[in-house]
Amino acid sequence: MKIFISLNRKKYSAMMDIIDFHAHIYPDKIAEKASHSVGEFYSIPMNKIGSVDTLLKSGGEAGVGMFVVQSVATVSRQVQSINDFIHAACQEHPDRLIGFGTIHPGLENPVDEIERCVKLGLHGIKIHPDVQRFHMDDPSMYPIYEAIESRLPILIHCGDYRYDFSHPRRLAHILDDFPKLEVIGAHFGGWSLWDLAMEYLLDRSCWLDTSSSFAFLGKVRSKEIIRAYGADRLLFGDDFPMWDHKTEVETLLSLDLTDDEYEKIFSGNAKRLLRMTPNP
Ligand SMILES: [Zn+2]
Repeated sequence: MKIFISLNRKKYSAMMDIIDFHAHIYPDKIAEKASHSVGEFYSIPMNKIGSVDTLLKSGGEAGVGMFVVQSVATVSRQVQSINDFIHAACQEHPDRLIGFGTIHPGLENPVDEIERCVKLGLHGIKIHPDVQRFHMDDPSMYPIYEAIESRLPILIHCGDYRYDFSHPRRLAHILDDFPKLEVIGAHFGGWSLWDLAMEYLLDRSCWLDTSSSFAFLGKVRSKEIIRAYGADRLLFGDDFPMWDHKTEVETLLSLDLTDDEYEKIFSGNAKRLLRMTPNP
């Protein structure tokens, strides 16, 4: 077990022990277009292109050693090819990339595709109810949750003031109905609805990632939210290519958390969740 004594902030980045739990990648051919359309969806200019090479470079410069990579199928016919792409990317970079598959309730047999994801060696599933346009607690999703409960974790985009598909109260419904489902609520459980998310999720059993939040929350509120949820359930995430890894890592380091909190958020929790190390 690593012990962090008087953590030297700069040294921490050099340790290459940071896991980014929320990174989007696209095949080279469409990376520019896909990144651009995500930027348009959120009205946030995308400075980077979501290719594997730029991801490794952006993360590498900030000391991020591994990335949970994902891509969202906006329509059901894209699901298989996206999962094949994620699988191939992970085969090419087995020491750096951890693949999460995509799924869509519009698939004729979504459970078959879940089985295929398991066979491909993907480590989890990612859904984005706002982009995919379904309520995350819709009954059509329940066979999918049933199929992955106790098998694969699911990363769910949560929160958007413009839509109701990914509202944190819907995540609370899922947690009620699938107590053994390992859920990661992205963006502290509610992008643009951070305070509301706390009302629904503070005492619940789910993981939360830190992605796409610091720039909106500011340092003081970010730290308050981290302390309220507690470091034991938080995972560092960047939401590449939306944000620069260096800025996100540096912002988190500037919050003056304890060494123990940093160790958990940057990598310890991710390893525990992904069963990368035996539980201490
Ligand atoms: Zn995402």
